[in-house]
Amino acid sequence: MLTVEEALEQILSRVQPLQTERADLFDALGRVLAEPIVSRREIPPWANSSMDGYAVRAADTGSVELTVVGRIAAGSMPTRGVGAGETMRIFTGAPMPAGADAVVPQEDVVATDGHIRLSTRVEPGAYVRTAGEDVRVGDRVLDAGQVLRAAEIGLLATLGYTQVLVYRRPRVAVLSTGNELADLGTEPAAGQIPNTNTYALMAQILETGGEPINLGVAPDRIEVIEERLRAGLTADMLVSSAGVSVGDLDLVKAALTKLGAELHLWQVSMRPGKPITFGSVAGRPVFGLPGNPVSAMVTFELFVRPALRRLAGHRALERPRIRARATGRIANPGPRRGYLRVTLAREDGGWAATLTGDQGSAILSSMVRADGLAVVPGDTIVETGGDVEVIVLKGFGG
Ligand code: AMP
Ligand code: MG
Repeated sequence: MLTVEEALEQILSRVQPLQTERADLFDALGRVLAEPIVSRREIPPWANSSMDGYAVRAADTGSVELTVVGRIAAGSMPTRGVGAGETMRIFTGAPMPAGADAVVPQEDVVATDGHIRLSTRVEPGAYVRTAGEDVRVGDRVLDAGQVLRAAEIGLLATLGYTQVLVYRRPRVAVLSTGNELADLGTEPAAGQIPNTNTYALMAQILETGGEPINLGVAPDRIEVIEERLRAGLTADMLVSSAGVSVGDLDLVKAALTKLGAELHLWQVSMRPGKPITFGSVAGRPVFGLPGNPVSAMVTFELFVRPALRRLAGHRALERPRIRARATGRIANPGPRRGYLRVTLAREDGGWAATLTGDQGSAILSSMVRADGLAVVPGDTIVETGGDVEVIVLKGFGG
């Protein structure tokens, strides 16, 4: 049986980033930059005021009266400079007039008709944002491989980029197999169960930055599974669920083999999960995940998500992990490594992990409550108060 690390290494050694493309700035959000960004602009382009007040020559300040010789609002350039004994009314973001090197906030002056009275000296540079203090022309502001989040999008807009070179968004085809499945929108008949996996997996794909393609539900018939999977070859990656446990193992495998796939069938030492199929078909990675909804989601987390991130050009592939204190006993009987659903809460400057309840691989409600997966070695009991490693699945407050 492979360890999770061995299986992941095998998978990642066969997955390469997709091509790059120019994307409109906003469509690049969450994607990985494929070019370095060197600034063509000076930000800010000129020295400007960070307060509403008066532009002054610092050397002229102290207990003095200055003559107001003009007014500059953001959006226009000053038409004259500030000479000895002079000042200019200025607003936040407005360019500094020549000669002035500081701003006195309006609340620090007494303004009378055409004059202001100061009572203290100000330092040169006070409340002035200098030209290029944020970014200079020629600065390398972003590197290839960086993920574009809101701040990066804002910076790129500031620098005038309407488009950037990013990795393509992976398209991932999702197939559910099983005679018992009633798809969303149809009422399950006697003996049928609702199709969970298609929707949970498509949601995980979306959350990972992929574009899911729904191949629907195939009954347990090789020709139908094969035909659906063939339709999925327009995608960059294929993910099927169920039909890989011992009894019916051959169906998904046989269908993939008929499609010309090169396959690896692994027993991975983990719980939930164990049997997973991985291979390549027409140069695309393909996963056969277990059918139980939590097993499908957890194997997606551990194997499909990192592979999908690699396709999308990410360098960091795995979730963050933290150490937490077990608020109760966490038992993992049996030799396989456990990935147990836990909630996380702040506690004494650290984290506390609590099991979400029944850990059965079909108990989706305990996945719903989970903030993370506690990683517990086989045949191990973490006693109350013990230390446990947790893979963080979602952001949470408090
Ligand atoms: P299998 O690997 O085909 O034996 O499936 C294992 C278990 O997962 C069975 O109880 C199936 O009914 C269940 N299952 C398989 N596919 C789905 C699905 N798409 N949604 C919900 N449950 C499923
Ligand atoms: Mg089945």
